[in-house]
Amino acid sequence: MKRSLMNVVLSFSLVAGLLVGCSNASQSVSSEAEIDLTGSPWNDTCIQGNLPEEKPSEKDDFYASVDYDWLEEKQDEVYELAPVYAMASTTKSISEVIVEMINDESNTSKNMDLVRLMYNQALDTDTLDKQGNSTIQPYLDLIDKADSLDALNEVFASKDFPFTPFHSEGITTTHMDGVNIVSISDNLLMIDSLNSYGEYRTEGFDPEDADTYPTTLKNYVQNVQNALLAMGMSDDDISDEIVKLLKWEYQYGKECSYSTEYSDLEYGEIGSISSYLTLDELQEKMGSYPIKKILEKEGRDQSVSYQTADEKWLSAFASIYTEDNLDIIKEVAKLKVIMEAIPYIIPENSLSKQFAVSFEDSGYDTEEEYEQSQADLKAEEAKSRAYTAISQVNTLGYAISDIYVSDYVGDEAKERLTTLSKDLVEVYHKEIEENEWLEEETKEAIYKKLDKMRFNILEPECGYFDYEGVSLKTTEEGGTLFDNYLILKQYVMDQENKWIGQTAMSVSAWITYSPTVQNAFYDPESNSVNIVPGILNENIFTADMSDEEMYGRIGAIIGHELSHAFDYLGSQYDEYGACNDWFAGNDKEEFLEKQQKLADYYNSITLFNNIKADGDKTLTENGADLTGFKAIVALAKNKDLDLDEVYKAYAQLWEVVMDTSYAQLIVDIDSHSQNYLRANVNVQMTDEFYELYDVDQGDTMYLASEDRITIW
Ligand SMILES: [Zn+2]
Repeated sequence: MKRSLMNVVLSFSLVAGLLVGCSNASQSVSSEAEIDLTGSPWNDTCIQGNLPEEKPSEKDDFYASVDYDWLEEKQDEVYELAPVYAMASTTKSISEVIVEMINDESNTSKNMDLVRLMYNQALDTDTLDKQGNSTIQPYLDLIDKADSLDALNEVFASKDFPFTPFHSEGITTTHMDGVNIVSISDNLLMIDSLNSYGEYRTEGFDPEDADTYPTTLKNYVQNVQNALLAMGMSDDDISDEIVKLLKWEYQYGKECSYSTEYSDLEYGEIGSISSYLTLDELQEKMGSYPIKKILEKEGRDQSVSYQTADEKWLSAFASIYTEDNLDIIKEVAKLKVIMEAIPYIIPENSLSKQFAVSFEDSGYDTEEEYEQSQADLKAEEAKSRAYTAISQVNTLGYAISDIYVSDYVGDEAKERLTTLSKDLVEVYHKEIEENEWLEEETKEAIYKKLDKMRFNILEPECGYFDYEGVSLKTTEEGGTLFDNYLILKQYVMDQENKWIGQTAMSVSAWITYSPTVQNAFYDPESNSVNIVPGILNENIFTADMSDEEMYGRIGAIIGHELSHAFDYLGSQYDEYGACNDWFAGNDKEEFLEKQQKLADYYNSITLFNNIKADGDKTLTENGADLTGFKAIVALAKNKDLDLDEVYKAYAQLWEVVMDTSYAQLIVDIDSHSQNYLRANVNVQMTDEFYELYDVDQGDTMYLASEDRITIW
C-alpha cells in the first residue's frame, strides 16, 4: 500500500492512536507551569486544568458546556495515569473487551480458543524468559552461514526462511479493472517510510550525528536500541550499530520523494507516483535481490502486476545490494528477523524502560508503594504486549474482529450502520443536485462516485476468512509463541493469496491496517468507505443507541469519511478508483477557494501558549468534519430526529482530557484539529445551531451568517 498516500487517506484518527511514538510524557510535569493555557475564541478544555470553574453556556462554548461534567470527572484520571498514558478517554477499547472475553472461560468458539491459547502463551513470561532467543536462533544462523550473496539469496528464497528482510508485501485493490494485485514496498528498520528520509535530507539529517535526528526518528532508533539490548549487545556496540544501519538505509532513502513533494503535485498527477510492474520488470529493477524467487516461494508470482509507491527506491536499493556490502546486508537481515520476532520472544516491551523513573523522582512516599507501582506497570505492559501479539493482521486480527463484532454489536447493528451510510449517500446526492456553483459535468462525476461507492461496514465486502484450518500448539504440547506466530503468518498469507486476481473485493486497506485498530477511512483507490471494528466503543456506537445518538456519533464519522471522496485527494479518483481528475471548468478553483476560507478561519484561532491553529495543515480534515456534520444534520432533519440530542451527541463524541505534552504532540503531528474545535467550529457553521440554542451576536459561539462556511 502506498504509505505516503495513506497518511492522507487515514482520516479519523482518535488521539489514542497517537500514543505510538509519543515522546517521554513525564517532561510535561515540569513544563506545565510555564505554559499559558489561554486560547481564543475558546480555551482548549481538552487540556487538563483548563476547565473553567463554572459550566459555560452552550452559546459561549458548546463543547465545554455539553461535556462539562465528564471533563471535570476525568481531570484527576489524567494526573493518575501520567506519565505513561497522559490522556483519558471515554470508554473501554476493543482490547479491554477482548481481554475480558478471554478471561471468561464460558466463552468458546474456534476463534476464541485460538485467541485464548496465544494470549495466555504471550502472558507466560517465565516460559518466554526460559526460551530466550532460542526460537529465532536457527534463522539467524542461516544468515550467518551464508558466505556469499548467492548463498544468502538462497536462504531468502528457501521455504525454511519465512521472512522478507528487504521488502514488505501486501495485497492491494487497484483501479486496474478492480483486480487485487500484490504490492511491494521497502522494509525499513529506522523509520516508517522512505519519504521521511527524503524529508530529513532537507533538515540537515546526518546519520553520524544523533543531535540531528528528528523526534520521530529517535523513537524508531529507540525501538531498535531496545531490541539490540534485549539481544545482549553492549551500549557502545549498539551506538555503532545504529549509525551503520542508518547510513545503509539512508543510501536509498535519500533517493526518494517526500511528502511535501507529493503535496506540490498538480491535480491528476497523484497516480504518477505509483508504478505497476511485471514480475520480470520488478526483478530487473531490484538487481541481485531474489524478489522473483521469494514471490514464487510464497505463491505470489501470479499477480497480473506488482505495485510500488515510489519506484525510485528499487534501483537505489539494487545499487547497494552487492557482494561488497555482504556484511552489512547480513547484519540488516538479522536485525529485521529480530525486530519481527521481538513481540513473540521478549516478555517485556520497551515502555517501562522509556518511562522508568527512580524512586526519588517518582513522587511515591514509600519504597513499597514505588515497587508496587513498578510491578503494576510491568504487568500492564505484559498484557498490552500480549494483546498486540494476537491482534496483528498476520496473526489473529480477523478472528478478534469477528468475535468483537458478533458479540459487541451483532448483525442487526451492522444493518443499521449500512442503512445510515446509504442514507448519507442520498443526502450528498441531493446536496450536489441543489448545489449552485458546480458545473453539470462535475455533478455527473460526483453522482457516479456516489452510486458506485462501496461500503465495508465492520468487515470487508468479501467477509472474513475463517481459521478452521489452523492448529496451534500449547506450551505443554511443545508449542512456542514464536512458532505459533509463524504458523498464523503462513496461514494468513495463504488465505490472502486467494484474493489475488479476484475483483470486487476492496480488501487492500483492511490488509494494510489491522481490523482491530481504532479507525475509519475512505479509500480512494477502491472508492470505499471503511468502518473498522476497532473504532466501535460506547462513545461511538452501541447496538442500543437511539438514532439521535447514532447520528451525532458514528453518523458524523461516516459523513466525514464519505466527504473524502470529493476532497483534494478524492477528486482525483473516479468511481472505479482510477486516477481521473473530474472537476470541470472552474470548479476546482472554486472548491479550493472555499476550502481556503475554512483554513483562514482556523488560522485565526489561538490554541494555547500563543500557538495558532494550523488551518492549512488541517485543511482536508476540517473540510471533512464540516461537510460530514452538515450532512448528518440534514439527514436528522429529514428523519424528524431531535436535533438538540444530535448536536449534544456530536459534542460528546469529542470528549477527551490530556496533559499539555500530549496537546503539544497533537499540534505537532496530527492532521486533524483539536477535539474541542472539531465540536465547536462545526456546530457554529450550521444555521440550525443558532435557532436551537438561541445564539446571537455577543455570544462567543456566534458567527454572522455570511461568515458561516459551506463547501459544497
Ligand atoms: Zn478524515
